[in-house]
Amino acid sequence: MTMNIHPLPPSAFKGEGMTSQRARDRLAATLKESGIRDPRVIEVIRNTPRHHFIDQALHSRAYENTALPIGHGQTISQPWVVARMTEALLEHFNGGVPQKVLEIGTGSGYQAVVLAALVGQVFTVERIEELLRQARRRFRQLGLANVRSRHDDGKLGWPDQAPFDAIILTAAGDAIPSQVLDQLSPDGVLVAPVGSPSSQTLLRIRGDGQGDFIQEELGAVSFVPLLGGIG
Ligand code: SAH
Repeated sequence: MTMNIHPLPPSAFKGEGMTSQRARDRLAATLKESGIRDPRVIEVIRNTPRHHFIDQALHSRAYENTALPIGHGQTISQPWVVARMTEALLEHFNGGVPQKVLEIGTGSGYQAVVLAALVGQVFTVERIEELLRQARRRFRQLGLANVRSRHDDGKLGWPDQAPFDAIILTAAGDAIPSQVLDQLSPDGVLVAPVGSPSSQTLLRIRGDGQGDFIQEELGAVSFVPLLGGIG
C-alpha cells in the first residue's frame, strides 16, 4: 500500500537499476530504527529518488543517512532530519493534511519534494539562484504540479501567499525571522533549527488558533546558516 497523496510517476524512476530500490528500502529501515514513527513519511522517503538531487559523483552515497554537498557551500539535509521535521510538522494536523506549506531554503529541492507528496501545496524560497534553477529542473522532471518556488530572501517569507498552515526552515538563524512567523496561520505549525553554527536546536511552534503559540524543543540538529539577501 502506498500512502502518498501525490505519488511520483513511474518516469521518475526510469533507467534505474534495482540497487536504488534496495538502498531506499534500507534507508527506510534505518529511519524506522532511529525513531521515525509516521509511516507516511517513511513511505514517501522510500519512494523518493534522492540521487536525483545530488551530483552524479555522489550517487553511490545518495541513500546513506547523511547530509551531502550540493555546491555553493550548501548541503542536502540528512534523510533522518528531513523525516523528523516532516513528521513533526504533520503531527500537528492529527492525520489531516496541511494545504499550504512554506519552505525557506529550497537547496536541492529534496525536502520540498518529500513535502509535496504529503501536503496540498508547497511554496519554497531559495536565495541562491543557481541552486533554485537546478531544483526547478528536478521538480519538472519529477512531474510535480504542486510545488511553487521563488528566488528571494526567505527571511521575508512569501507575503503574497500568506497565511501558511505550516512553515519549515531548512537553514538555521539565531532566531526565527519575525516576518516569517507573521505569515503562520493562527492554528498553524512552524518547524525550524535555531542557534549558532556550533549549537542548534530544532524548534516547533504550534498555534492554538486563539493567538497563543506554544514552543517546543525537539533536539539538537546541524544546519547551514540562514543568510540574508539574495545570492
Ligand atoms: N531543504 C534543502 C536544504 C538545503 S540547505 C534540501 O532539501 O536540499 C539550506 C538552503 O537554505 C541552502 O540552499 C541556502 O542557500 C538556503 N538559504 C539560506 N539562507 C536563506 C534565506 N535567507 N533565504 C532563502 N534561502 C536561504
